[in-house]
Amino acid sequence: MKTLNDFNFKDKKALIRVDFNVPLDENFNVTDATRIVSAKPTIIKVLEDGGSCILMSHLGRPKGVQAEFSLNHIVPKVSDILGVEVKFVSECVGEKAEAAAASLQPGEVLILENLRFHSEETAGDKAFAEQLAKLGDIYVNDAFGTAHRAHASTTIVAEFFPDQKCFGSLLAQEIESIDKVMKTGEKPVLAILGGAKVSSKITIIENILDKVDHLIIGGGMAFTFIKAQGGKIGNSICEDDKMELALDILKQAKEKNVQVHIPVDTIAADAFSNDANTQEVDIDKIPDGWEGVDAGPESRKQFHDVVMQCKTILWNGPLGVFEMESFAQGTIELGNSIAEATKNGAFSLVGGGDSVAAVKQFGFEDKVSYVSTGGGAMLESLEGIVLPGIAAILE
Ligand code: AMP
Repeated sequence: MKTLNDFNFKDKKALIRVDFNVPLDENFNVTDATRIVSAKPTIIKVLEDGGSCILMSHLGRPKGVQAEFSLNHIVPKVSDILGVEVKFVSECVGEKAEAAAASLQPGEVLILENLRFHSEETAGDKAFAEQLAKLGDIYVNDAFGTAHRAHASTTIVAEFFPDQKCFGSLLAQEIESIDKVMKTGEKPVLAILGGAKVSSKITIIENILDKVDHLIIGGGMAFTFIKAQGGKIGNSICEDDKMELALDILKQAKEKNVQVHIPVDTIAADAFSNDANTQEVDIDKIPDGWEGVDAGPESRKQFHDVVMQCKTILWNGPLGVFEMESFAQGTIELGNSIAEATKNGAFSLVGGGDSVAAVKQFGFEDKVSYVSTGGGAMLESLEGIVLPGIAAILE
């Protein structure tokens, strides 16, 4: 796996695919700069070697050229974070872009205009990728969030740099973290899958059963398993057409010696609302008219014990409707348990959508080993897919 350290960037122009798809407010100020901060180590390494950086990214989903999606808006923020006056060119390919890239001096940083102003980007157009490739000497992919897309700048462009290509430090960290869970992690390995639906996680569960020793199934998806086993789940969310599959997953887990942990109790609410009436009940005895919205106290205790036994932990999906304060406690306590296990030396990876939001919201970000930056890319990695953006560098 080629990384930044395999290259000396002195007098080289690094063409770096970053993910600067950041949220902006109505005055085009960046409201969350996490993705820019995450790309900083890669950019700084190139600059410190004596090279220059040409940064390419998308922003939003423009239809053709739309000024509100210009990457020009984020230039001051990037300059601020890097501590370098960043240049901008209002094109990403063609004469103007080529002239701006050619005049770039060692130590300088240039941001190209939004790649998605050209439909060729998402189409993975080869001629467009070739035009991008003209701009730099070494291609660096540091955008995990788009690594599952075979777009021109994330995948196709790599063909034009047969040897001169590598992973940026962010993408390398993402790959290493996933490898720790899926291949090299110290045992016992635990995966915690929560969230709303079994259907969105089936492929992950099936892939992961070969890698883990323990599996916690929580959140809304647990109810499909409970009902399939004959439990009474009241109004809790459930995918009836996935009940058979749920039983099959439990059977497969048994055959593979994976210990499955499903909540034994739940906080039941009489409405899907933060100020609903609630009661603690056994998870398979939920009264009619009530729905399970969070893990109950006994489940939290059992999950804590499992987490504390494990040396490698993956967490994807909340244990309850954490967006509502009254139903966030199970997710918060799980976060606390993972933080404690991490402090004791376990490796913990949080990734894929809502668990990342929960970790940030409740302040666990610095208490786990790694928080993935890519939602869809992370989920596809857990499904066992080799992402096209990663394969293109390995080839
Ligand atoms: P996912 O995107 O599949 O990870 O699902 C995340 C969503 O699952 C969050 O918005 C949670 O509010 C929701 N969720 C978790 N537990 C429950 C539950 N018991 N009932 C309904 N929704 C839930």
